[in-house]
Amino acid sequence: MKKNNVNEIAGINYYVSSVIDGSVGFKNETPKEEIIRNRKAISDKCHFGIDQIVSMQQAHTSYHFCVRNNDIGSGAKEWASGITNTDAIVTSEQGAVLLAISADCPLVLIANRSARAFAVVHSGWRGTVKGIVPNVLMAMDEVYKCNHDDTEIVLAPMAGKCCYEIQDDLCSQFLENFPRDVIVHNQDCLFLDLNKTIRYQVQRANINMTKIHDFEECTICNPDYYSYRRDGISAGRFGLFAWMN
Ligand SMILES: [Zn+2]
Repeated sequence: MKKNNVNEIAGINYYVSSVIDGSVGFKNETPKEEIIRNRKAISDKCHFGIDQIVSMQQAHTSYHFCVRNNDIGSGAKEWASGITNTDAIVTSEQGAVLLAISADCPLVLIANRSARAFAVVHSGWRGTVKGIVPNVLMAMDEVYKCNHDDTEIVLAPMAGKCCYEIQDDLCSQFLENFPRDVIVHNQDCLFLDLNKTIRYQVQRANINMTKIHDFEECTICNPDYYSYRRDGISAGRFGLFAWMN
């Protein structure tokens, strides 16, 4: 995939924004008008309407929401109307532009060509431990009849094992759920390889690793992306936008 470009997998277009696009997440210090302006500029660049966006009030849950036609536009221009209590949205609606936002947390696009269904997932460490990606894969199978032989996955930039230092308590939570190699030891410090944890979850769902398209970029050491760990509470948010072509 190319940076700062619209890319495509399994018949689904996607765009990962970066610092040059400005913040696209409500509920931080950036004024609402500026967020709307940034989302509008991305909409123009990607040739969809800002009112087609569906955005979530992400809350580190493992819940997903199935987007129907009358949900289109929810959270597009304000926080309040965003889909509540959910960290993944799934749809087969032609006109929907799904959006997930982040400053370090993994964002995942799941797309299935034959079912013409796709999902964007916010899988931070809490959502990853709770298994949000496996939950969404199961829902896509049950609700949208996705045959996962036909599923492709994009891993957006995220906190990388080079920088994502964690403490013992979080380390034990991951070791209860994943193989030991998701933790990297460097001198006396522990680093979490979130990318690898999600790959394990995808693999357990019998999806071939060749179906994963990875930006392979770390948000903490790459200034092109917003990072909560690097910039603290004032950090903006980058977004993963996905829509049918
Ligand atoms: Zn890094």
